Amino acid sequence: MTLYEHDVIVVGAGGAGLRAAIAAHESGADVAMVTKLHPVRSHTGAAEGGINAALKDGDDWHDHAYDTMKGSDYLGDAPAVETLCKDSPQETMQLEHWGMAFSREEDGRVSQRPFGGLSFPRTTYAGAETGHHLLHTMYEQVVKRGIQVYDEQYVMELAVTDEPEPEARTCYGCIGYDIKTGELNGFIASGGVVLATGGPGQMYAHTTNAVAQTGDGQAMAYRAGVPLQDMEFVQFHPTTLPSTGVLISEGVRGEGGILYNSEGERFMFEYGYANNDGELASRDVVARAEVTEANAGRGFEDDAVHLDMRHLGEERITDRLENIIHLATDFEGVNPLEEPMPVKPGQHYEMGGIETDENGETCISGLYAAGECACVSVHGANRLGGNALPELIVFGARAGRHAAGEDTGTPQIETGPSARIEDGDVEPPVELGAVKSTSTVADGGTKDDSPRSVVNATLEAERERVDRLMETDGINHADVRSDLQETMTANVNVFRNEDGLKQALRDIRDCRERYQSVGVSDPSRTYNTDLIQTIETRNLIDQAEVLTLGALARTEFRGAHWRQGYQERDDEEWLKHTMVAWNNGDPDLYYTDVLLEGEDKRYEPKIRSY
Ligand SMILES: Cc1cc2nc3c(=O)[nH]c(=O)nc-3n(C[C@H](O)[C@H](O)[C@H](O)COP(=O)(O)OP(=O)(O)OC[C@H]3O[C@@H](n4cnc5c(N)ncnc54)[C@H](O)[C@@H]3O)c2cc1C
Repeated sequence: MTLYEHDVIVVGAGGAGLRAAIAAHESGADVAMVTKLHPVRSHTGAAEGGINAALKDGDDWHDHAYDTMKGSDYLGDAPAVETLCKDSPQETMQLEHWGMAFSREEDGRVSQRPFGGLSFPRTTYAGAETGHHLLHTMYEQVVKRGIQVYDEQYVMELAVTDEPEPEARTCYGCIGYDIKTGELNGFIASGGVVLATGGPGQMYAHTTNAVAQTGDGQAMAYRAGVPLQDMEFVQFHPTTLPSTGVLISEGVRGEGGILYNSEGERFMFEYGYANNDGELASRDVVARAEVTEANAGRGFEDDAVHLDMRHLGEERITDRLENIIHLATDFEGVNPLEEPMPVKPGQHYEMGGIETDENGETCISGLYAAGECACVSVHGANRLGGNALPELIVFGARAGRHAAGEDTGTPQIETGPSARIEDGDVEPPVELGAVKSTSTVADGGTKDDSPRSVVNATLEAERERVDRLMETDGINHADVRSDLQETMTANVNVFRNEDGLKQALRDIRDCRERYQSVGVSDPSRTYNTDLIQTIETRNLIDQAEVLTLGALARTEFRGAHWRQGYQERDDEEWLKHTMVAWNNGDPDLYYTDVLLEGEDKRYEPKIRSY
């Protein structure tokens, strides 16, 4: 066991983590990154379409903010949305100055393409491999600056003090399991820990997310006492390959790709799903249209529809979307230069996450979050395509700077239980939360309050946990995980109803109970993926429960959350953020205000049509 000490520890080395680390370093901090994957293997590398930034003449960050608030179905917080849209141009240009190979026009200027829900073609891109270039560009800066990277270190838990109120707790570091050696290490952070651990797409069976996307950061923050916000809002991307869930970028529709049903109809217009924007309506609108078509018997095999881009011509496709040819050919056996691609909705993005303010700070002192694991609330009930990458760089940078001690301004978003405006009112069909909770405080909590002893105590608890899992001759986590994925896919998908959500909660409880008897069959200490995945499975269970509880409670239709029997957005009752906090092992559901007041205007909720 080794103890490492730095000013700032960034957990995760995707786009958000890399940007946070560079910013903390620029602010003078001794910063280290701790990551289960090598930085350039992070899932940001899969991002295809681009980065929204109001860069060009005729565009304006105010318009980007308006589109984002509308896209969010008015559940985004205006101060965060405006920060995103104001800072995105300079952060995008910073990437260009660091050498990112953006696609360009004939005159050498950076190209921008149209994306769903945007009133201006403001999506800046590097072919259909934007995330890959973004990761490599920022990793070069990390290497150049000599920032320490502990890779293949799986962070298992946060080291947090155990005061009864989360707002009184402090995070002093985290515990890493060295995947190469099986050794447990403590990481002490005198300034702050920034979680940048990505999304939890592995809750679902059909997803665009890689196997590493298990939302570990959300689960650790939740158990430490930070509320998870708006988790019921899950984005289902309308164009994923049916057999694998591999994403076909919105860039295809941005360049002019067309969706057809099995009758050969351009259904987005034919059936009035989006009479103005058609295929380029917001993702939730297109995903629902596709499922409706399939349910009406106008789909193809496996409930797919067709996405056709042949009319764009080989030259344009090869220039701007070459990657798509490889993905469709390799993963679906379809050459999109010669035939349409079958596509259907798949889990893609978690709009909710760890509640933070505009500086990326949570209600626990010294604990930050940025990127997909966080919810500063720029996406609200539905994220616009191309708005996640700017979130990584804008809020990654702010969190890094703030954790390094820089003044980044007073946040307008209030975090923690004191922001509560109202308790949740819902009757789950089963008991929720920990199966046997003996803890009187959050799971990671420990009584002694010197940083070293808090980290040491957590290290000891985690060592016992690993030993217990290794010694138990129990059931395999994979059975529990696949049951969880199946029920989430069947019951908490594009269309939701009360019975299905209740069934999902019963199934999740069953998974939680069975998880008490999981054991790790691989006895080795090196590269023991069985152990890592067993720990990740618990994290998925915790998040699935939070998500489904929020979805059951929310009896309205907003953004990506469609509820049978509640076909209207209900601003009177539901213009509020869902929060779920781990209260002594018991999920505590409550609500907080949505901030619609911007710098110089209020974003008055309107009917959302495209
Ligand atoms: C296929 C695909 C295409 C997309 N295309 C676009 C697009 O064009 N435009 C757009 O705006 N958005 C896009 N998105 C969304 C966007 O790419 C993601 O939301 C974003 O990249 C997430 O970045 P991140 O830094 O938060 O997390 P990630 O890139 O997922 O990085 C997470 C990091 O955390 C580390 N980590 C996780 N758990 C642990 C742990 N327990 N211990 C240690 N380390 C850990 C991992 O090693 C990794 O380094 C796309 C998403 C997908 C899936």
